[in-house]
Amino acid sequence: MTIERFLLARLIKPPEECGCGFKHEYPLKAALFGRMEECLEVLDEYEIRPPYGVFYDPITYEIAGMDVLKILGAKGFVVSSPTYDDAQSKLKKVKELNLGTVIAVGGGSVIDVTRYVAYEGNLNFVAIPTAPSNDGIASPRAALYHVSQTGELVYTGTAPAKPPTLVIFDMSIISSAPKKLISSGYGDILSKLVSIKDWQLARDDLGERYCKNAEELALAALNTIIETAKDRKEFDSLNSVKSLCKALILSGAAMGIVGSTRPAGGSEHMVARHLEIGFKRKIPHGVAVAIGTLAMGAFHELKNPNWWKEDDYSVESMKKYLEKWKIPSKLEQLNIPVDLMVEAITESWKSRPERYTILHKFKPCSEEAKEILERSGLI
Ligand SMILES: [Zn+2]
Ligand SMILES: [Zn+2]
Repeated sequence: MTIERFLLARLIKPPEECGCGFKHEYPLKAALFGRMEECLEVLDEYEIRPPYGVFYDPITYEIAGMDVLKILGAKGFVVSSPTYDDAQSKLKKVKELNLGTVIAVGGGSVIDVTRYVAYEGNLNFVAIPTAPSNDGIASPRAALYHVSQTGELVYTGTAPAKPPTLVIFDMSIISSAPKKLISSGYGDILSKLVSIKDWQLARDDLGERYCKNAEELALAALNTIIETAKDRKEFDSLNSVKSLCKALILSGAAMGIVGSTRPAGGSEHMVARHLEIGFKRKIPHGVAVAIGTLAMGAFHELKNPNWWKEDDYSVESMKKYLEKWKIPSKLEQLNIPVDLMVEAITESWKSRPERYTILHKFKPCSEEAKEILERSGLI
């Protein structure tokens, strides 16, 4: 079997050409699609050198971590929580061992801790995702939590982190991920419809810096998954999941070249985080994001003359895609209380006052929030 190499170089323009003022610096050299053993053999081509440290959790150790450890003869680290405490204790050990490269095998938490360690320790970083569940794989920020005195996790925004130099997708691992995690990946990409329009709102109302190249990357991600929704293959077929993986990389690159989550996270992510924190039953990130995207898309359609004119990008079309990707588009199907969703729309923007979105502009009251929910079809 051969390795398929997905390269971003031709999609990232020189900063002078874009003129946005961001540096367009992004270290990811390639995303490899192939059998893991074979992909690990080419690390040297990308100047990724030992000694290696491999990070995983107890579940991803069984899925692939154990194999990576054996193949590379590496040192293993078990990530126990996405916290600064855990990341800092790992950083200390990594420094003592003088490692050259850290490798994350897993999903959100493992990747977040590893890329923070890579950033703080100035190390090479390789990501081996075990599920295509969110676009944080190749992003320049890590979602880490502080631990309060009572032991609760406190979130104060993302931490600086290093995007990977290389991402390895072994499709036999990725496509056997739980279906709801695959659905989640699609939901996280759909959000670009809202996040880009929120960013444009900040550009037009406040003169915030805007990068056209990041917009192109985000839309390339979006169009890649819209194609999967339109063809006949199932959302979890090998081809569709491979397209999803490419979309996750493109979205990560959109964030990477401007060094922030701005291109990929607007009001829909604020609403989603409110649901994730407030909703006791676990809800996959991208599913919460899809719900936030429907609501905020309907709000933009109502209030923002600059909302998309393309049929493919309308709220009605979004609902069709969600059906294909097996993501519910009614609150009751997910047991999300209407009151919690209303609260998410009226309150969530206060957690990030500096990131201007349509919520910051109009500050909807409860009545308006209900109207948004009706328009979006969520209730
Ligand atoms: Zn997200
Ligand atoms: Zn730019």
